[in-house]
Amino acid sequence: MAASMESKAEMGAVRAVSAAAPLALRILAECPVSKARACDLILPHGTVNTPVFMPVGTQGTMKGITADQLQDLGCKICLGNTYHLGMRPGPELIEKANGLHKFMNWKRNLLTDSGGFQMVSLVQLSEVTEEGVQFQSPYDGKEILLSPEKSIAIQNSLGSDIMMQLDDVVSSTITGPRVEEAMKRSIRWLDRCIAANKNPDRQNLFAIIQGGLNAKLRKACLDEMTKRDVPGFAIGGLSGGEEKDDFWKMVTLSTDNLPRNKPRYLMGVGYAVELVVCSALGCDMFDCVFPTRTARFGSALVPWGSLQLKKKQFAKDFQPIDPDCQCPTCKRHSRAYLHALFKTDTAAMHHVTVHNISYQLTLMRSVRESIIEGRFPEFVRTFMKRMFPVEGTYPSWAVDALASVNITLDGACSGQGCDSALC
Ligand SMILES: [Zn+2]
Repeated sequence: MAASMESKAEMGAVRAVSAAAPLALRILAECPVSKARACDLILPHGTVNTPVFMPVGTQGTMKGITADQLQDLGCKICLGNTYHLGMRPGPELIEKANGLHKFMNWKRNLLTDSGGFQMVSLVQLSEVTEEGVQFQSPYDGKEILLSPEKSIAIQNSLGSDIMMQLDDVVSSTITGPRVEEAMKRSIRWLDRCIAANKNPDRQNLFAIIQGGLNAKLRKACLDEMTKRDVPGFAIGGLSGGEEKDDFWKMVTLSTDNLPRNKPRYLMGVGYAVELVVCSALGCDMFDCVFPTRTARFGSALVPWGSLQLKKKQFAKDFQPIDPDCQCPTCKRHSRAYLHALFKTDTAAMHHVTVHNISYQLTLMRSVRESIIEGRFPEFVRTFMKRMFPVEGTYPSWAVDALASVNITLDGACSGQGCDSALC
């Protein structure tokens, strides 16, 4: 009986996927204390369990990680990079190869970015007009216009399960009229992206909430964008070097105003503490290049921080990176071996990348399990204590952000009347 009800529910969800939007969000549990939630996000290439960290999929260089390895680590959704794929090998070639899934040999879900974010790093070469982002190709110097229509055309050719709107990106530390201009233009570009999507039955378009660090502008953007019936929302324009206090307040303002029944994607966030805190604030999806980038410098992520494997202290350390980690690297290799390998071989980067992605995915699985089992606040306290074992070293923004959703940390300072030297 239970089984047949289960399969009926499953069928209902699948029907929802093939109807108006190719996405359904099933909320499995909501933390009764904080805003954390555990959901099943049903997408064209399978179900994604949230909260989720989404790694970047590459085409199998030794520096990175292959599609097969991502699958073996239990990854259900990864990112494809539109900017680079849009240029080389080019959307036509990928369309000929029957889309990015086939091209990458990745059978699960893919999220592609609009290509606009990369413009921030190429800002000297780019000019933003109402039409789009004009820039010089770093490959051949040709002038290229990335318009909302062009961005969606590229993402339609790639065939990703989730596409991101082109937005007008400004650095999170910029203030003044440019922030308002960019926010309003992003709303207009969202409408152009919605109109340009040729595959609304197969590809989900996400809006990106902008407004910088200005609460009034961000609220105005939320009010306007949530009027559009898009399948999901991203919180954009953060994690770019702004004060952490501004960061979490903008996240909280966003999750307070986003619809409950749609996925919430916090862009560019991937430090373990941020992932846990922002899950508490009600975010469902995250991405960040940090875990893979830091791996290339020999930094392995562990529940108590990180290990700098190139340091001498690991030369004769025959333990795995993390004795509790189940990843292929920890099962096979010692810290000493990896330390030695870093001196001679790029394979070392690859082994640590595998471990770091496994760490991120495992962390999010633990977050999810704790929400489903009704012990998320306890999980957060244990996680924070392990990460910051010395009393009085919790980052104050994390303490404040967690307190705002009713999670108080053991030994965290309330600020008032405290006589600790750190206060
Ligand atoms: Zn490992």
